[in-house]
Amino acid sequence: MYDLIVIGGGPAGLAAACTAWEKGVKRILIVERDKELGGILNQCIHNGFGLHHFKEELTGPEYAGRFIRMLEDTGVEVRLDTMVLTVTPDRQVHMVGKDTGYHIEEAKAIVLAMGCRERTRGAIAIPGQRPAGVFTAGAAQRYVNMEGWLPGRRVVILGSGDIGLIMARRMTLEGAQVLACVEVMPYSGGLNRNIVQCLHDYDIPLYLSHTVTDIRGRERVEQVVVSQVDERRQPIPGTEMVFDCDTLLLSVGLIPENELTRQAGITIDPRTNGAVVYENMETSMPGVFACGNVAHVHDLVDFVTAESQRAGAAAADYILGTAQQDGPVLEVKNGDGVTYTVPQHIRPNRVDRRCDLFFRVNRICKDSQIRVTSGDTLIAQFPREHLAPGEMEHIVLPRTLLDKASETITVSIQEVESK
Ligand SMILES: Cc1cc2nc3c(=O)[nH]c(=O)nc-3n(C[C@H](O)[C@H](O)[C@H](O)COP(=O)(O)OP(=O)(O)OC[C@H]3O[C@@H](n4cnc5c(N)ncnc54)[C@H](O)[C@@H]3O)c2cc1C
Repeated sequence: MYDLIVIGGGPAGLAAACTAWEKGVKRILIVERDKELGGILNQCIHNGFGLHHFKEELTGPEYAGRFIRMLEDTGVEVRLDTMVLTVTPDRQVHMVGKDTGYHIEEAKAIVLAMGCRERTRGAIAIPGQRPAGVFTAGAAQRYVNMEGWLPGRRVVILGSGDIGLIMARRMTLEGAQVLACVEVMPYSGGLNRNIVQCLHDYDIPLYLSHTVTDIRGRERVEQVVVSQVDERRQPIPGTEMVFDCDTLLLSVGLIPENELTRQAGITIDPRTNGAVVYENMETSMPGVFACGNVAHVHDLVDFVTAESQRAGAAAADYILGTAQQDGPVLEVKNGDGVTYTVPQHIRPNRVDRRCDLFFRVNRICKDSQIRVTSGDTLIAQFPREHLAPGEMEHIVLPRTLLDKASETITVSIQEVESK
């Protein structure tokens, strides 16, 4: 019997395990299906990681490496090449490993840290033929950065999320020609710094309010047709542009990997596609915590680390019996302009001094106030010059404010000006 089993050895799992160990939990197991720890960071060889957490600019493998070295100084056990198949409500973890075969381990607490996967062409139903040369941007990133293969020479990228933007630069640096980055929304889904550093710096055009309407080619992609879309995201006839290319990269969103979570009967939030969590990242199943991209898709790994340290600390409290009593529960609701919030529930009794609240907005807003209300009472507001759906927002609610709220709190955006 383990005290804690952490599923997933990416930055979320590593941070949760290290923190639980520091807090005094001794029998900890990390289960990772890959051959090495580090998660998606191993293929992110660009820099830009760690500015918040380490106050340094690191590459993905360097960032992961720091946590792997911290882990080496602990007694945390790691089982690589081992895939978790099922988690049961009585906290049994069924897994299959290359050397260990099918086996079951039990734990007093579990941290779910399985990350997320990319949406594929099937998920977005692009019409056209089915030639080779259509890849998700993350798969292309793995080919280029880890396997040493260049997936194509003339490239169109659909989707302007961060992975698409980063691959536009990466493919260019490797000698491919990136003809266009195409985004169906009227704004980019990526961080502003990535638009500047990955597109503008390499003169790669970004077509907003456009989408791919046809893929042509028998064996291999030969042409991609791009059309402008109207405000309902429907292609506008007569606006077609034809790009002669051999590769289409898809960067059309990430889906948290929650098959295990659903199967265990844990409540899922349809807005995040992750588990509904309390302020300490505990799910609807007591003793089971979720953190990192499996809980909601993050832009920056630094926030994954901070959130996972909270989950690891809370799992330790659960195991060691040092958690505060529950007390009243506040439900966090989306108000105008807000797509989702994490956590979805707050137990003020469990908040030591402050509660971190993350959310995304559903449109670009300039000069706005983030308003936090409980019933008709405004309990806090935070000014922002710029809000964008591609950038996760973070506010801090002190315990003293939470004590003033009753039953629900609502986060909404009040704009002075919008576009
Ligand atoms: C292409 C790309 C570029 C990025 N660029 C930046 C950047 O510039 N700066 C930045 O700060 N952040 C960046 N990020 C974000 C950052 O990398 C992620 O937020 C972070 O890696 C998420 O950590 P995680 O541990 O939640 O997930 P992951 O890193 O995905 O780790 C999850 C782990 O769980 C394992 N797993 C899943 N299911 C199972 C199972 N059933 N059994 C066993 N193991 C399992 C997986 O193999 C994986 O190792 C980028 C992300 C991507 C994809």
